[in-house]
Amino acid sequence: MIRFDRVSKRFGDVVVLDELDFAVRAGERVALIGPSGSGKTTILRLLMGPERVDSGTIHVGGDCLTHMRRGDRLVAADDRHLRRVRRRIGMVFQQFNLFPNMRVLRNVTEAPVCVLGEPRPDAERRGRELLELVGLGDKLDAYPTRLSGGQQQRVAIARALAMRPDVLLLDEVTSALDPELAAEVLDVLRDLARTSDITMLCVTHAMRFARDVSHRVLMFDRGRVVEDKPPEELFEHPEHERTRAFLRSVL
Ligand code: ATP
Repeated sequence: MIRFDRVSKRFGDVVVLDELDFAVRAGERVALIGPSGSGKTTILRLLMGPERVDSGTIHVGGDCLTHMRRGDRLVAADDRHLRRVRRRIGMVFQQFNLFPNMRVLRNVTEAPVCVLGEPRPDAERRGRELLELVGLGDKLDAYPTRLSGGQQQRVAIARALAMRPDVLLLDEVTSALDPELAAEVLDVLRDLARTSDITMLCVTHAMRFARDVSHRVLMFDRGRVVEDKPPEELFEHPEHERTRAFLRSVL
């Protein structure tokens, strides 16, 4: 579903990703862990924007994200191509990013109506179902500022799902929340993992979440994958010294 082939990215003199290869199969849930600055968020920003690769290719589903065909040549993707491929991807951010001037249901229905052209009644029906799914069926008419951080994050998850993405990217979705509110969000994501076959790529410092939700954990260090294993193996038997040191610092 997602494939990075020899992807490199630098900012100025700093090489953030160094010929990175990895692949995530359809329906797989993969957690990206590693020290601060190891390039995890850059991976999500290459997938969802605004960053572009310096070299290498990224595929999402059957489509190449980074390049497009022009005649018989492959050229760098233009904005239209990027937007088309990115339709398959949904993203939830650390800071929720809800529309403050719109009620909860409208937050969830706006993009399906305006971007996908869904009839509003259909989008509202589905929006209600999704808000029910994340436990907010009684908050359809509230404004985001009247909700707790955990509730706002659950709206953000419903909003991402409303676009029917094949892939959900989660960037530190519990970092801005108190433990109790983070637990609510993690419960919703655990349920989603259990009941759907959506592909998930999560950057997280919450090791419990990585352990509970993912099929595989990729440990990053300096823009490379140093260990790639199912969570129980990685957490119980880390092989690489870098992984052991990182886990000692966070567990
Ligand atoms: P964290 O766990 O702290 O979020 P991370 O592993 O997600 O870290 P990235 O955010 O991908 O790391 O950043 C990797 C490196 O790239 C860091 O050194 C960061 O300062 C640098 N970097 C990221 N984005 C930019 C940018 N737009 N301009 C300049 N440098 C950047």
